[in-house]
Amino acid sequence: MTKHTTLAPKFRAYDERNFEHLAGFSNLSTDTRFAIRVLARVFPFRVNAYIADELINWCDVPNDPIYQLTVPQPGMLNTEDFNKVADLLRKDAPSETVAATVTAIRAKLNPHPAGQVSLNVPELNKVRLTGLQHKYQETVLFFPQAGQTCHAYCTFCFRWPQFLTDSEVKFSAVLDIQPPMLETIRIGTKALGYWPYRFVTDPDADDLLRLMERVVATGRHLAIMAHFNHPRELEPPIVRQAIARIRNTGAQIRTQSPLVKHINDSTEVWRELWRKQVNLGLVPYYMFVERDTGASDYFRVPLARAWDIYRGAISRISGLGRTARGPSMSASPGKVEIQGISWINGEKVFVLRLIQGRNPDWVQRPFFAKYDPEAAWLSELKPAFGEKEFFFEQEMREIFERTDHLA
Ligand SMILES: *Cc1c(COP(=O)(O)O)cnc(C)c1O
Repeated sequence: MTKHTTLAPKFRAYDERNFEHLAGFSNLSTDTRFAIRVLARVFPFRVNAYIADELINWCDVPNDPIYQLTVPQPGMLNTEDFNKVADLLRKDAPSETVAATVTAIRAKLNPHPAGQVSLNVPELNKVRLTGLQHKYQETVLFFPQAGQTCHAYCTFCFRWPQFLTDSEVKFSAVLDIQPPMLETIRIGTKALGYWPYRFVTDPDADDLLRLMERVVATGRHLAIMAHFNHPRELEPPIVRQAIARIRNTGAQIRTQSPLVKHINDSTEVWRELWRKQVNLGLVPYYMFVERDTGASDYFRVPLARAWDIYRGAISRISGLGRTARGPSMSASPGKVEIQGISWINGEKVFVLRLIQGRNPDWVQRPFFAKYDPEAAWLSELKPAFGEKEFFFEQEMREIFERTDHLA
């Protein structure tokens, strides 16, 4: 980590074509740099100078968590697929050949998990509104066209198909109405972690803050849903300045992150993450389970371990940080939280509840799955006590049947 912060750096994105211009990357071995180019054909790859110069600890690469967070890793593809793409690049194969191979590999990586395309897209007068997702009654997700990018891409990102230039299915829309029922607005963003200058020194930083003030002045609750994966992202003075400026507008900052192997899979990291957040006035909101998409095998953390980490961290921070719910799986029926591991009538079980559901009546009902130390997603769990299925499954089938014709 070098410590030279210019006053107002200009944002510039780096990808597989030019990442070697960044000092840290230029020192990597030829093999490593080639591997990054191979992987970046399949997974979105984008970094910037702030990440390379201020966040990554190059003495600890490849294990450094921020390096794992932003640079595609060899373990993310199986050897066969990796070699397929590598061979094509080595022999300078025509771009259509590479593209066809890459498309086939991506299709195996469950690009749209949890029924996002088939179940969540609302209809108005028989027209699918593809820039929106409406899964839960009280909230709608809006994907503004101009916002479908980030200042860098996370290797584990479950929205990875959003960032492929040749993606078939992208959620994006423009909004020019002010729906009267709009009471709270949340802006999900990774900008505080990846480019805090957005709120401090970028040419339109002040415009953005004034806009936030205007939203707050209309009487609406404005929350920045900030995505921080590792406490190191909260250390640079520029982040702290950005946080203070946002909070001065009257907007709240809540935080969320998945629990991801190689990046933040330890109690100490989460305790530190939440402790720092509370000290900076942020409100911890969700700890997610890494989704079953993309290179999920590389990043997966078994649910039993996720619960251990959650409990270990939450039990050792101030009560102000115990606002974080989780570990939570954003699965087809809703957000399923692991509440604990218990013995009931001689059977070891996971105690679960839906903290959000496609049907509001499902929310907060405790239910039970057989304990399985390796299971890492809802689809890998079996109901406990010899039951055939979980209580919501019959209704989920009916929902699937109703929406089958749409996707
Ligand atoms: C998490 C999520 C929401 C918001 O749920 P809250 O419980 O209100 O935080 C809304 N829509 C989708 C699709 C979600 O995954």
